[in-house]
Amino acid sequence: MNPNLFFVSYPGDRCVVARRKCAECPVRQECLEAALREPSDRLGGGIRGGMDADQRAKLRSRLAPELVECRECGETIQAREPGKGGTRRVFCSGACSTRWHYRKRVG
Ligand code: SF4
Ligand SMILES: [Zn+2]
Repeated sequence: MNPNLFFVSYPGDRCVVARRKCAECPVRQECLEAALREPSDRLGGGIRGGMDADQRAKLRSRLAPELVECRECGETIQAREPGKGGTRRVFCSGACSTRWHYRKRVG
């Protein structure tokens, strides 16, 4: 298999042969996950795990946790706790939430 097939070689090249190879590759999932973990993959690259570099960048940002700062103490937290569905967090802890609401009440 020519490794160049995994890299765009002309404008609009979709690297279909490489994608087809990936589709039937037994380690496709692991290959994709490894690419997503590699910092250097953010710089671009060829087809890996059935995806081109742009597709991996989109997937990476979709999977990345959204970070926000606690309204009270400024600590960086995940806006949504894994497994806790829809509720958006704005405080790092109950204590911060209480403090913030208390200050709001007393002015
Ligand atoms: S790039 Fe990854 S998924 Fe695609 S053929 Fe190679 S090892 Fe398999
Ligand atoms: Zn806090």
